[in-house]
Amino acid sequence: MFNKVTIDDLQLAGKKVFCRVDFNVPLDDNRHITDDTRITAALPTIRAMVDRGARLILASHLGRPKGRHDPKYSLAPVAPHLAELLGRPVTMAPDCIGTEVEELIAEMNNGDILLLENVRFHPGETNNDPTFAGKLAALAEVYVNDAFGTAHRAHASTEGVARLLSPAAAGYLMEKEIRYLGQALANPEKPFVAVLGGAKVSDKITVIQNLLGKVDTLIIGGGMAYTFLRAQGIPVGKSLVEEDKIALAGELIEQAATAGVELLLPEDHVVAAEFSADAAAETCARDGIADDRLALDIGPLTQRRYTEAVSGARTVVWNGPMGVFEFEAFSRGTFAIARALAESDCVSIIGGGDSVAAVNKSGLQDRMTHISTGGGASLEFLEGKQLPGIVALTDKS
Ligand code: ADP
Ligand code: MG
Repeated sequence: MFNKVTIDDLQLAGKKVFCRVDFNVPLDDNRHITDDTRITAALPTIRAMVDRGARLILASHLGRPKGRHDPKYSLAPVAPHLAELLGRPVTMAPDCIGTEVEELIAEMNNGDILLLENVRFHPGETNNDPTFAGKLAALAEVYVNDAFGTAHRAHASTEGVARLLSPAAAGYLMEKEIRYLGQALANPEKPFVAVLGGAKVSDKITVIQNLLGKVDTLIIGGGMAYTFLRAQGIPVGKSLVEEDKIALAGELIEQAATAGVELLLPEDHVVAAEFSADAAAETCARDGIADDRLALDIGPLTQRRYTEAVSGARTVVWNGPMGVFEFEAFSRGTFAIARALAESDCVSIIGGGDSVAAVNKSGLQDRMTHISTGGGASLEFLEGKQLPGIVALTDKS
């Protein structure tokens, strides 16, 4: 199933390795890193390569600097932080290409680490410009990609360079992501249940369509549930509805029935008069959403129904919160799913930026099988798409 060359297949001693990582970390106004999850996620790969004597050239993007040098998006704060985590020096390069960078690389010894400046300071990065990719490739002998979070983008440092350097290998994080997500989709232990939620149906249509052919049960919650309920003629008041997706939701309900997939929709709701953290929460029955109310979470009956379905599963893929979990009064449905997953010994896979944030907020993150580090990338994976950053890696022969 997973058939890419990994760093364990490579001779690394003395080799100049161009390693694409995802150090796109959040920074506060003082340019302090507020969450280093993405850095720590790459540590096993970095440590392994350094221990094996690679001359490690790390490349990443940070934010969206629009193709020019902008100190606001400099990766400079990452170098000392990484050095501290590793307990060894990390040199910060002034750019990601050019003579100065080449000179720094020429001076490197085995086990040294150089962090290149933001690759998006050059327009060639997002354009996947072959000339720019060629300049990056000229810096090294081996390519390693550990940036699953950007694997869905065909950029110079994620795709272009991988085509120019051989071998192009997966790092441990990349390997882990592909293994877990790939296994769940291709060969899940059954029963296989998908829990889908979040704000909009339109964001998740392809995911639903792809999963309908694979799952035993499809659970729908969150804002998108109300477009489905509307398709069934159920009044939803002021709840989030995508008018132009009602017909499609109806078709998806029919497709599920045809495919023999059990489709679960909310059977009761937590509603409020307005979209606000301190709006009073009220519970109502499936058909009971008043015209002046909007549903912000699944109700207690639905919670029970959904957590039962989750508890009976051997594999669960979860993308999208069950309600507006950012507001305490409307977070119960989402946390109930997190708890059910934590208490089950099933394979639990969580993808999607907000879903991962919700699981982290629940404090149960250590009890999940796999929490994907790639929001958009995991979504495209669940859609059944081939991710260009993965496709470009060398196949195991
Ligand atoms: P993910 O990032 O995990 O893929 P989404 O971005 O699709 O998830 O959706 C997350 C957002 O959906 C959250 O900000 C949450 O507040 C919102 N949401 C969930 N339920 C509702 C609801 N009933 N009404 C409005 N918004 C909702
Ligand atoms: Mg999101």
